[in-house]
Amino acid sequence: MHGLMMDTPLLISWIARHAERNFPNREIVSITMDNPSHRYTIGECIQRARKLANALDRLGLSRGDRIATLAWNDYRHLEAYYAIGGAGYVCHTINPRLFPEQIVFIVNHAEDKWVMTDPLFVPLLEKIAGSTPNVAGYIVMTDDAHMPKTTLRNAISYEALIADESDSYDWPDFDEREAVALCYTSGTTGNPKGVLYSHRSQVLHAYGSAMADALGLSNRDTMLPVVPLFHVNAWGVPYAALMVGAKLVFPGPKMGDGETLYRLMEAEKVTIAAGVPTVWLGLLQYMDKAGKRLTTVERTVIGGAAVPESMIRAFRDKHDVVVMQGWGMTEMSPLGTVNSLKASQLDLSPDEIIKIRVKAGRGIFGVEMRIVDDEQNELPWDGDKAGALQVRGPWVCSDYFKLEGSAGSHTGDGWFETGDVAKIDPDGFLQITDRTKDVIKSGGEWISSIDVENVAVGHPAVAEAAVIGVAHPKWTERPLLVIVRKEGEDVSRDELLAWLDGKIASWWIPDDVVFVDDIPHTATGKIKKIELRKQFADYRLPTA
Ligand code: ADP
Repeated sequence: MHGLMMDTPLLISWIARHAERNFPNREIVSITMDNPSHRYTIGECIQRARKLANALDRLGLSRGDRIATLAWNDYRHLEAYYAIGGAGYVCHTINPRLFPEQIVFIVNHAEDKWVMTDPLFVPLLEKIAGSTPNVAGYIVMTDDAHMPKTTLRNAISYEALIADESDSYDWPDFDEREAVALCYTSGTTGNPKGVLYSHRSQVLHAYGSAMADALGLSNRDTMLPVVPLFHVNAWGVPYAALMVGAKLVFPGPKMGDGETLYRLMEAEKVTIAAGVPTVWLGLLQYMDKAGKRLTTVERTVIGGAAVPESMIRAFRDKHDVVVMQGWGMTEMSPLGTVNSLKASQLDLSPDEIIKIRVKAGRGIFGVEMRIVDDEQNELPWDGDKAGALQVRGPWVCSDYFKLEGSAGSHTGDGWFETGDVAKIDPDGFLQITDRTKDVIKSGGEWISSIDVENVAVGHPAVAEAAVIGVAHPKWTERPLLVIVRKEGEDVSRDELLAWLDGKIASWWIPDDVVFVDDIPHTATGKIKKIELRKQFADYRLPTA
């Protein structure tokens, strides 16, 4: 027997309607390419999104057509999210840090009909326009006064496009399972793969991420997403923030600038921020140098890569900010776990709490996790046994766009293979030990490169650390530690090995240390271990 409840479709246009009705005066502050301090309200944002939706309808698009965006975090990009998705098109966010050949691949693969771009990326698009012939035109996200001269076909400024449009628009009703957004994984191997989010998945993800034990987002928050709108929908913040009416602060092109981030946080009274560890490293370094302290930020959500203990301590001890580590991936919208303490952990000592905080967190309702061994047997949550991590839930991808059935990404019983290796403790806290591809197997046992890296970056002279497996005649593989020193700092091989001694299992201590000027990164800022392994493929360890 079915229940007698309404089947109201979960569409992101509902979030727009709800936000406009309930929080019309809540502010959205942006740095943009053409304005260092733009300020308006949620009400104005949705009003302009309706104008844009009218303009898009006039371009002769069909339901489900992809419209690409190549833009930083600011109010126009947010309007595009709601206009494109709300009108029934698909917002395909593109990471401008990808190689031009990758951008060509994904624009063509996604069959983008129009491209919306920041003026900054116009030269990049001009170079590849010949290779993306199916794009009908380009909307440059600025006004006519700041419109660059361009050879892009049918180029028009955003403000000119919407200027004469009506601001009344009836958001269409349709099946909540229709697609709303598309984001390609950066693809360290092979071509990027498209993750196609549905309205339903994004509305549920917004509910889930706003929960108190997840981001705990509320109307009283001011949120600074330093995680880009061009990657995994900025962790869903644009949807969750408007769902609760949090004030939004967008850093625009200044995402990597510690000084600007600090200024914005203080001036706008930011209470919660979100970003990858690299961003916070820059902010912490700036604040240390300038002798500044955060006075309004209560918590930061940090994920996308393991968060070093030293970073969690610096935020806590110097700024009274709680670091909530999160884990997830593009294929998971992205949120899987968030590190928030359980009732039974509240009275632990600060040092015991740090031991919990370095873990990736516990699963939020909406994502089920399991770890399995090589034979697919489920492993216990004992905090000891590590296995391949698999997930399922309504905001986890069921396949990749136009690769249906051929990507081999799911198990026979429908779980998604994350490609991560992890342990889960009896309290349900997940600890990522490696990517499956990056695992170091020494004498048949796994060494967690992430654990070793975390301890290494805790050394005051170390800017960045990576551990890779290098061939060894006796142990098959042994770890090699690759180090980037902080500017003006010095540290020797032996000092680093002594630093690790006692902090990790003795047989995890790398067999050697090499110093490099920089470590290669992917477009989402992750260490490219494949490249490092290539670089050191012939490296002879002193123990070999
Ligand atoms: P891509 O860089 O390919 O776009 P994602 O942005 O989806 O990939 O990154 C997902 C991956 O990032 C995860 O599978 C995991 O390996 C890593 N990751 C994310 N959060 C954490 C974390 N808290 N600790 C360790 N690794 C993490």
